[in-house]
Amino acid sequence: MMRKEIAELSEKYKKIFEDCSDEIWATPEINFTEHKSHAAALKCMEELGFEISMLPDMDTAFIATAGHGKPVIGILGELDALPGLSQKADCDHLDPVENAAPGHGCGHNLLGCGGMETAYILWKYFQENGIEGTIKYFSCPAEEGGVGKVYMIHRGAFDDVDFCVNWHPSTMFGISHSGKSILLRNYKFHGVASHAAGNPEKGRSALDALEIMNIGIQFIREHMDKETFIHYAITNTGGFAANVVQAYAEGQYVIRCKDNTELKKMDARVQKIAKGAALITETEVEEPEIVSAFSSFVDNTTLADIARENIKECMPIQYTEEELAYLKKFIACGSTPDEEEIVPTKIREDQPTSTDVSDVSWVVPTVMISVPTWAVGTPGHSWNVTAQGKSPVAHKGMNIAAQIMANIVLDVIEKPGTIEKAKEELQANLKGRTYESECFIPKGKKPVPIY
Ligand SMILES: [Zn+2]
Repeated sequence: MMRKEIAELSEKYKKIFEDCSDEIWATPEINFTEHKSHAAALKCMEELGFEISMLPDMDTAFIATAGHGKPVIGILGELDALPGLSQKADCDHLDPVENAAPGHGCGHNLLGCGGMETAYILWKYFQENGIEGTIKYFSCPAEEGGVGKVYMIHRGAFDDVDFCVNWHPSTMFGISHSGKSILLRNYKFHGVASHAAGNPEKGRSALDALEIMNIGIQFIREHMDKETFIHYAITNTGGFAANVVQAYAEGQYVIRCKDNTELKKMDARVQKIAKGAALITETEVEEPEIVSAFSSFVDNTTLADIARENIKECMPIQYTEEELAYLKKFIACGSTPDEEEIVPTKIREDQPTSTDVSDVSWVVPTVMISVPTWAVGTPGHSWNVTAQGKSPVAHKGMNIAAQIMANIVLDVIEKPGTIEKAKEELQANLKGRTYESECFIPKGKKPVPIY
């Protein structure tokens, strides 16, 4: 239910979060190095009166808490940028602020500050209406590849949380119901260098091993689940001279599956292929290190149904003439839009998500929505996103997202039994599996930047 008071609170305080979002946009930092963005977000929440707590080994993560008692409400936020997506604001042709520098090509400046706004207007609403409950805003680093939330889960960040609400900036309104499990490992082969013509019999090529590994993977593609993908990159060929047998080679492999169970099976098969390639070439393959891993998304229809009703009440977004002109400018420069509407009027619920929010969905009932902040047709992870990241249209989307999320939370806590129902649904969907046993990243591992 859209509450007038929530809209008024957003209107009253939105400038604080728009300014913070613009500040974070201007200091784009990649996974686990978000020091300036982290400082800006932390300062903002501290000044607003939230109590700040930190987590071990994670100097760019924080939890901002307000209110007291039960329920405990989690609002998730992110603040990391992407490498190479620097772009001048509002510019509709490629023109980086700094060549090859990071940029907010996924809109996490808006994502984080929209979550902060949600937490703040909720807290104000709680105070004004005498509502019991604890609000926790989670500032999560390294969503882009670094899976910051996995390390936060391992550190107990979500242990007392009853449910989580999250959004992502987008070109459309949406609710996530699915997301694949993803595993990224590096494979390192060691051989023996030798003169390729003088002593070829003495050499054992690590590059040959890597090539055979890829051939092996080509042959299992026919015999794997239709929803599975395997991607690779050769990240180290072992040298640039064809007359030297390569003693070292390295490849990166990403496996995407419908769920963690299937991913475990595929991971074991890919490891067998690597061992086979080493056997054939008489090289050695190291135990492949896990770089990052996302779990599949656990849908929660109890929360999603409430989200849908609240999104509907905000549709369509009312844009000014200038804002419509701005959107049209970016539609013209982006890739061909696959939707005709400039102002989205549908809620997309068929788009799979690929984010570490999925990991949180295993331990806490979680709902994830999308709200338009960019022109229809804007490709994700692009300079076009960076360009549109601090416009009035982006700010408007962020403020609408905050209002929708605050209203979702209020609907959940006001209707007796909803939290229990959401928790029961989570347990039913897990079918006896636990996050502990399914997670690929070991509990003791410390977070490291992956780029
Ligand atoms: Zn993102």
